Amino acid sequence: MITINEHYLKLQASYLFSDIARRVAAFQEANPGREVIRLGIGDVTRALPKACIEAFHKAVDEMADDSTFRGYGPEQGYSFLREAIARHDFQARGAEVAPDEVFVSDGAKCDTGNIQELFAAGIRVAIPDPVYPVYLDTNVMAGRTGSFSDGRYQGIVYLESTRENNYVPDLPAERVDLIYLCFPNNPTGSTITREQLATWVQYARDHRALILFDAAYAAFIRDDALPQSIYEIQGAREVAVEFRSFSKNAGFTGTRCAYTVVPRECMAYDAAGGRHALHGLWNRRHSTKFNGVSYPVQRAAEAVYSEEGKAQIRELVDYYMQNAALIAEVIGGLGFHSVGGKNAPYIWIGSDRDSWQFFDQLLNEAGVVCTPGAGFGRCGRGYIRLSAFNSRANVEKAMERLRRALG
Ligand code: PLP
Repeated sequence: MITINEHYLKLQASYLFSDIARRVAAFQEANPGREVIRLGIGDVTRALPKACIEAFHKAVDEMADDSTFRGYGPEQGYSFLREAIARHDFQARGAEVAPDEVFVSDGAKCDTGNIQELFAAGIRVAIPDPVYPVYLDTNVMAGRTGSFSDGRYQGIVYLESTRENNYVPDLPAERVDLIYLCFPNNPTGSTITREQLATWVQYARDHRALILFDAAYAAFIRDDALPQSIYEIQGAREVAVEFRSFSKNAGFTGTRCAYTVVPRECMAYDAAGGRHALHGLWNRRHSTKFNGVSYPVQRAAEAVYSEEGKAQIRELVDYYMQNAALIAEVIGGLGFHSVGGKNAPYIWIGSDRDSWQFFDQLLNEAGVVCTPGAGFGRCGRGYIRLSAFNSRANVEKAMERLRRALG
C-alpha cells in the first residue's frame, strides 16, 4: 500500500488568493462598468531591462549553432554569473563572499523552501509572523510542527512583528536552532538596522543556531545606512545563509533566476556535536536534485551587472519606489498608520477593523484590490498590504480613488 506523508494533511489550504479572486469577481459582476485596480499582488509589471533582453537574445543565438551550443551546465551556475554576483552584490559593499559560495538557482522560493532538508527533524524553528508562507509550510511538510490551531502550528516559535517593535521581531525568549529573517520584509515592508541584525548574528553565534536571511528585496534599499546583506555584519559568515533573487530588481519573476550564498565557514552539527560545513551539504543537495538554470537566462542575469544593466535596473526599481512613495504619502495623509514603502515595495497599513472588512471597503468604495494581512499570519489581522508593482497611471488613479473614498 502506498502511504502518504501525513504531515501534508496538517497544511492549511491557502484560500487567500482564491478568496480575493472570488470577492473581486462578485464585485465586477455587481458593478460591470467599474474598473478594478489591483495593488494586491507581489508580481512585477514592467518588461525586462534592455541589457538583459539583448544578452538573452545573443545567448539564444549561441544555442542555435553547433559550435557555440551548450548542453548541461554546472549545477551551481556558470562561473561568469557567480563571479559577477560575488563582485557586485557583495565585495563592492565590503562583504566577503567568494564566487564558489554562490549557488545559482531558479528561484528564492525553491531555495528558501528546500534548505530545511539539510536539518534534523527535531530542531526548534523560529519563523516571523506575519510571514512569506514558504518558510512555514515547508517545515510543516517536513514534520517539524504539530497541528494547526487558532492560526498557528504547534512547535513553531513565532517571531512577532508588531507596531510595538516597529515590525522587527525581538530575540526569542526560548532557545531556537533555525531562524528565518526577511528584510526588506514581505509583507510588512519593514527594514532592519545593522545594530539589530548584529544582535541576531550574536544570538546565532551564542546558540550555534543558523539564520536564513531572505534578501529578495535588497535592491529596494535606498538608505545606505541599512544593511543589504547579512554578510555586512561581522561574524555572520559562520552563522548565516542568504537568499537573493533577480525577480524583483530585474523583473525575472517569469524568467526565473536567483541565488543562495553559503559561506565556507558556515557550520551545522551532528547529534554528537561534530561540525559540518553547510557548503558541502548544500552543494550535494543542489547537484543531486537540480540541473542548473538555462544558459540564456544566466547570460540575461549577468547583464544586470553591466554598466547599462545597472542603470536600467536602477531606473526600474526607482519607478516602483516612486509608486511606493506615492502610496505611503496618500495613506499617511488619510490618517492611517503604515510602515514600508521607503526601502521596500510593500506598504503595510493598520486599521481598527478586521483585514477582510478593510479589503471589502477598499474594493467596494474605491475599486482597489489589496491583500488582507490575515493571510500572512495572526499578526497580520487588522492590516492590509498594498504593493507598488503596477503602472504609475494605475497607482495614481488608485490613490485618487482612495482619497475620495476614505478622505
Ligand atoms: N522571498 C520573498 C520574501 C518573496 O516575497 C518572494 C516572492 O514574492 C520570493 C522569495 C520568491 O522569489 P523568486 O521569484 O526568486 O522565487
